[in-house]
Amino acid sequence: MLRVIENARVMGSYHDNCIVIENGVIKEIGGSSLCEKYRGIAKYLDAQGKVVIPGLVDSHMHLSSYAVGKARVDLRGVRSIEDLKEAVRSKASSLKEGEWIVGTGWDHEQFKEKRLPNKLDLDEVAPSNPVLLIRICIHMGVANTLALRKLGLKSEEGHLYEEELYEALKRIPKPPNYRDLLLSSLYDLASYGITRICSMNALREELDALLSLRGRLPIWVHLFMSEEDYTKVNVGGKLSIEGIKVFTDGSFGARTAALREGYTDDPENKGVLLKRSDDLAKLASTLERDGKILAVHAIGDRALEEVLSALKLSRNIRVEHASLMPPDLLRGFKDRQPVAFTVQPHFTISDSWLEERLGDRVKYAYNYRAMIDAGLTLAGSSDAPVEPINPWISVGAALTGGLLGVPPLSVDEAIEMYTSSGLRACGTKYKPLSPGSPADLVILDESPWSLNKFDVPGIRSLLTFVEGNVVYGKEKWS
Ligand SMILES: [Zn+2]
Repeated sequence: MLRVIENARVMGSYHDNCIVIENGVIKEIGGSSLCEKYRGIAKYLDAQGKVVIPGLVDSHMHLSSYAVGKARVDLRGVRSIEDLKEAVRSKASSLKEGEWIVGTGWDHEQFKEKRLPNKLDLDEVAPSNPVLLIRICIHMGVANTLALRKLGLKSEEGHLYEEELYEALKRIPKPPNYRDLLLSSLYDLASYGITRICSMNALREELDALLSLRGRLPIWVHLFMSEEDYTKVNVGGKLSIEGIKVFTDGSFGARTAALREGYTDDPENKGVLLKRSDDLAKLASTLERDGKILAVHAIGDRALEEVLSALKLSRNIRVEHASLMPPDLLRGFKDRQPVAFTVQPHFTISDSWLEERLGDRVKYAYNYRAMIDAGLTLAGSSDAPVEPINPWISVGAALTGGLLGVPPLSVDEAIEMYTSSGLRACGTKYKPLSPGSPADLVILDESPWSLNKFDVPGIRSLLTFVEGNVVYGKEKWS
């Protein structure tokens, strides 16, 4: 099937306005004469002078968590423990006894009480329902007495950190409409122009659900499995298993990111180091033999040090977050480059409190400008549901430097993070928006190159195409 998009402003070119698609693949890109060539043979779509860019890649998000999050109590924006309790009380009143209440997105930095919620707070409002409320960073949570009993856990305050939390989350039953939630999440992503994602820390449950949806996936899904659920099962279609994701540390929010020197607001504490370079390198080499990639979560400078040593032995590593990048580490990574760094520009907005944790070191946090200048490959991502899935909010943060005021990137650099660099991070080799590549495209309502950078977060996809098929928006071919 032959299709032509005409009157387009094709990204990266002043004269190309025509894209020819054959069987889902870009066949040719050119000017007006190319457009005329297929008149009467192909179906035409008028882009009405709008900008066309490659489909966007969210190279690090958590599809399953995002999907079940659609059925969870949304605690973002809650400003006090009293309001948190009220949200749980109201959810409990809509459920039967014994049904789970899971909430996400609370941030005690925003609470007027300036303390962590505990199990007694939750027992008071939902004694007959197991409750688990996950902090915005996903590195800690708080459970009530019934939830702890059901999970067979003991904790005086009800606080669960890292591994214990992940184990708990795995054991909470998924909502009955889990598959529908996954599918509708992929359509949510497509509505922002995202045509490909890497879903991180995927479990067998997520893989099985996606396998059963395989023929119906609107966008490409690459899974980075959690280590214990990794499998070499043959998938196909728009689904692939790309590798394994492991953690070397935690988060700044929970003060578990591994630092060389103690936290400024907790000087005895240097966070937690969860993996050593030898183990990382060994796993990376094993995966390389399978044609897969190791994704390594490393936020603190101490964790990044460990990744840098691992890169001496194997380059088959993708670095997740790379949040605190002082100059010596930057020089090291310049000489020993990983597959890519997957970064989240929106953290520069969400972590506005970071100076409290890091003091003067904050100047090396989200050091994207210096990393790009050093020639490193930075892939953009949301880390949803930690941050919003809308990539334009994130691109906007990259252009302005966010609330932390980090040195900004240009529009070209930010878009590259979400297109060609994103593809690399997902283990995909082709050049986007070029003949021979899948026709994964987005027609935008506004041009990010002509808008004021503060208006970029408002950009919308008019049409999102995957392999030449419209997966979002109203199309009119003639
Ligand atoms: Zn993540």
